[in-house]
Amino acid sequence: MTILQDFLKDLEELVNFDSGTRNSAGTTRAAEIMKRHYESIGFTAELVDLGPDCGKALRATNKPGAKHFDIMLNAHLDTVFPDGEAAARPFTQDGKRGYGPGCVDCKSGVLSIFYGIKCARKEDIDRLAILVCCNPDEELISPWSSPWLLEQGKTADRVLICEPARANGALVRSRKGSAIYTVTFHGLSAHAGNEPEKGKNANVALCRFIDAIYTKCNDFKRGTTVNPGIITGGKIVNAIPDLATVKLDTRFWNDDDGRWIRSQIEEAAKKEWAPGVTAELKLDSWLPAMPLSDKTKALVDVVNQSAKEVGFTAEWVDAGGGSDGNHIAESGVPVVDGIGPAGAFLHTAKEYVDLATIERQVMLQAHIYSHI
Ligand SMILES: [Zn+2]
Repeated sequence: MTILQDFLKDLEELVNFDSGTRNSAGTTRAAEIMKRHYESIGFTAELVDLGPDCGKALRATNKPGAKHFDIMLNAHLDTVFPDGEAAARPFTQDGKRGYGPGCVDCKSGVLSIFYGIKCARKEDIDRLAILVCCNPDEELISPWSSPWLLEQGKTADRVLICEPARANGALVRSRKGSAIYTVTFHGLSAHAGNEPEKGKNANVALCRFIDAIYTKCNDFKRGTTVNPGIITGGKIVNAIPDLATVKLDTRFWNDDDGRWIRSQIEEAAKKEWAPGVTAELKLDSWLPAMPLSDKTKALVDVVNQSAKEVGFTAEWVDAGGGSDGNHIAESGVPVVDGIGPAGAFLHTAKEYVDLATIERQVMLQAHIYSHI
């Protein structure tokens, strides 16, 4: 059997049962299957308990006692799909593409790590301390596994995230961080016709606030963005609105810029944008940036060199969206992403994995071990 045939057989096993993030038994089953695979090549593998709300994670290594690893690899075990999806549309392939829930996001990535190790030169694997961490909750932005991933990442010199490569095969060398804020404006209601002067207009304050913060912080060149994605305010048209709320999605290429946006929002929230209206600010979430640091550039060079040996030129993108790479990069360890097989239409029934990229990405990983 070829690498691709073996891979597709193992992929079919991983795709053909439900493993949505909320299906703890399903994600744990995926971890158990990968544990079996790693044990078959002499790795030490264990299931990691991340609490009662999610399935088990998988931790596998060839150097069980090591405190420090040359490389860590990560991909996630969960999918976005509800129970019943695997039975409704089990794994199929047409010679060009493979289909099925989570086939490329991220089951192919999970498997590619194992195959990359299997296909690497034995002397490289013996020489290096390798750590594999697969988490069960990425599709919910890793609420339970991110502290664990961050801790594991701190023990490694470099990290590869095996999320799918882009549909055109491109890899990801940096990702924006993001923070979400809720700003609530409190005013005073009054009849819009009889005594409008007695009202304190929360909607007007909100509009002025948004305009100011958008003008100040939204800078496509610098890469800082503020999106007032959800606005609510008022209940009826003929009363002064006493309550208005905006949810702001903010993005940044480095955490300093993220903190700068935060300080601007904090300052703006203290101002009185309409007479008598006050604002209350809440930080809903904070995802650090995965920056293109000098250490990351060195890792990009290693990947480029390995790609050349496999016979292709690695293309790179800087992505506006986040992944587990963002959580792990917080400690300063260099992280690159998109090292899994390529595909498209993630999170939909049209999702596919591009079969032509499976062996390529596996061999890319295998060659990386020779250069670290
Ligand atoms: Zn996904």
